[in-house]
Amino acid sequence: MNYATIEIEQHDAVRRIWLARDSARNAQSQQMLDELDHALSEAAADDGVRVVVIGGRGQHFSAGHDLKEAQAKRANFTVEERWAYESLRYFDYCMRIWDFPKPTIAQVQGACVSGGFMIANMCDLVVASESAYFSDPVGQTLGAAATEVLIHPWVMGVRKAKEMLFAGGRVDAAEALRIGMVNRVVPDAELTAQTDELAARIAQAPPFGLRLIKRSLNRTLDSQGLRAALSAHFDTHQLSHLSEGFLRARDAGLAKAIVRSPSNEVRNEESLNHGAQA
Ligand code: ZN
Repeated sequence: MNYATIEIEQHDAVRRIWLARDSARNAQSQQMLDELDHALSEAAADDGVRVVVIGGRGQHFSAGHDLKEAQAKRANFTVEERWAYESLRYFDYCMRIWDFPKPTIAQVQGACVSGGFMIANMCDLVVASESAYFSDPVGQTLGAAATEVLIHPWVMGVRKAKEMLFAGGRVDAAEALRIGMVNRVVPDAELTAQTDELAARIAQAPPFGLRLIKRSLNRTLDSQGLRAALSAHFDTHQLSHLSEGFLRARDAGLAKAIVRSPSNEVRNEESLNHGAQA
């Protein structure tokens, strides 16, 4: 299959999937999410693939969901329409990455914001470059109950998650390493090479054993309530789309709301074009 918004590479047993809308800071359009899901299902079914790396072309991993598209196509969604859209493309697609039967690695540089934060943190491992930063400002900017998949406390601890979500700030690469949210931080120029090296090493292990290890590790978190908590948050998040705060942001323009936020420097860098979307 030919993709328009992602690029696929194969290096021995490592499948690379690149988010490839770098002129839009890899903002996740509907097409990109559909293509990513499709590419992952192909990689799952292909016995020649033992490890999947998800990376972003350009200077940023992903600035989040495509807000321009959201404003144009989904601003006036009914409850039912938004539920259908977000439960498939945001929640189910994310959980398919989480449940992917082979090890996955996110390689992250620059912005890893909101929708980008969700996808990177669905991966088993995260390799970040020194320029990477992590943020989910939509509580501040859009009046939304974080993003659809509240993976945050599971990967960064509840204290740090509350700070980031309440105050709308960012966590830089060094801090992400310190709190255990990423596995390693490498110079930007070495990000792809060092991620490849890690992926190649993982690909040497017998795949079925790795698959079972991943199932058991994920079940450890399930036994602590991860899946139930994520499902409950999705419902809560939907409620926030009907809130006064969200509707005000929507009426003023979703993308502009990111820019107007007083607390997050992301707003300026991501500009009016693209950014995190609830
Ligand atoms: Zn939403």
